[in-house]
Amino acid sequence: MDIFCHHYNKLSTAYYLLLYSYFVQCPCANQKAMNPMLRQSLLYLSTADWARNIASNWFLAKRVARRFVAGETIAEAVEATQRLNNNGILVTLDYLGESIDSEADAKEVVSTYQQLLDAINENSLQASVSVKPTHLGLDISEELCMLNLRHILTTAKAHNIQITIDMESTKYTDVTIRMYRTLRDEYDFDNVGTVIQAYLRRSEDDMHELTREHSHIRICKGAYLEPPELAFPEKMDVDSNYVKLTEEYLSDDDQSYLCIATHDENMITQTKQIIRQHNIPQDRYEFQMLYGVRSDRQQEIASEGEKMRVYVPFGEAWYPYFIRRLAERPANLWFFAKNLFTTA
Ligand SMILES: Cc1cc2nc3c(=O)[nH]c(=O)nc-3n(C[C@H](O)[C@H](O)[C@H](O)COP(=O)(O)OP(=O)(O)OC[C@H]3O[C@@H](n4cnc5c(N)ncnc54)[C@H](O)[C@@H]3O)c2cc1C
Repeated sequence: MDIFCHHYNKLSTAYYLLLYSYFVQCPCANQKAMNPMLRQSLLYLSTADWARNIASNWFLAKRVARRFVAGETIAEAVEATQRLNNNGILVTLDYLGESIDSEADAKEVVSTYQQLLDAINENSLQASVSVKPTHLGLDISEELCMLNLRHILTTAKAHNIQITIDMESTKYTDVTIRMYRTLRDEYDFDNVGTVIQAYLRRSEDDMHELTREHSHIRICKGAYLEPPELAFPEKMDVDSNYVKLTEEYLSDDDQSYLCIATHDENMITQTKQIIRQHNIPQDRYEFQMLYGVRSDRQQEIASEGEKMRVYVPFGEAWYPYFIRRLAERPANLWFFAKNLFTTA
């Protein structure tokens, strides 16, 4: 009990310090860019076991996290997908969780994904699926993760469902790209794709190779805490890399597919210009955003006749995902604080 109280106090203090630094620096909740130190502190909290253990039992935090998470069960995920599909929006479903360290847990994750794929098929949902390698046992071994990916991809292929292997921190970049290539080329899965993060310095080379291999790639900015030797620390550099990689990828090869994952209006405008300039047909790309983020804009893009896919997470392991969303935007921290105080 003492240990629980000690950790609870530590977590509360950490969040109050963050909120304090936020309000001192930025009384205006509309400030757009997250202060780098604040972002780093939040990303640290997203990976700290002690913080996850405490916050996961923090009822109010869980309620606030619901803005970004569709629910805890497959049935709730199906319901959210149906709502989006009815409005002309495609979905990619993600069963929340990461950093699994037991083979039995990884097996249960695979079984949930099999049930999810069956539910997509039975309900005729317009949905693909996203998976995280460390949720499928990558921290235990690459072989185990590959085996689990193959199980999921086999069921998905039978139902004609696309699978995207999400990209986690730089510890996993090489192995994730290697597994993607092996599944695509050696096991002949044509329903697999992966992710490139524009904040990484190495991504230009990775993207260059992947373009020539007719790949299925999601480009995003990147959501993890990385050192400046590996990732551009300035938003300006990340943004210009995002546009550069998007242009190279779309214009270099007419058999590759690009998922443009961003909420940044500037990125969306520049991508649309690239698409127009290079006459890129609609079957070569789609826009993607996260559940609960810029929902009105998602609807607008779909209404313009573009393919718009929303990443819909569900499950009980909401903590790291939710904290990464807080780290992306000062206003989300304000939203969190306001809801904590108004629901307390
Ligand atoms: C479909 C999808 C899949 C993703 N998969 C991965 C992955 O596999 N690996 C990975 O590292 N990252 C992934 N990400 C996260 C991504 O890397 C970014 O962290 C996130 O998308 C924020 O970057 P941004 O491009 O939206 O631009 P930012 O520069 O972060 O934000 C630009 C503007 O967009 C709006 N905005 C951005 N984020 C939010 C938010 N959380 N809440 C409210 N408004 C917001 C704000 O108006 C902000 O000013 C994914 C994102 C999406 C949309």
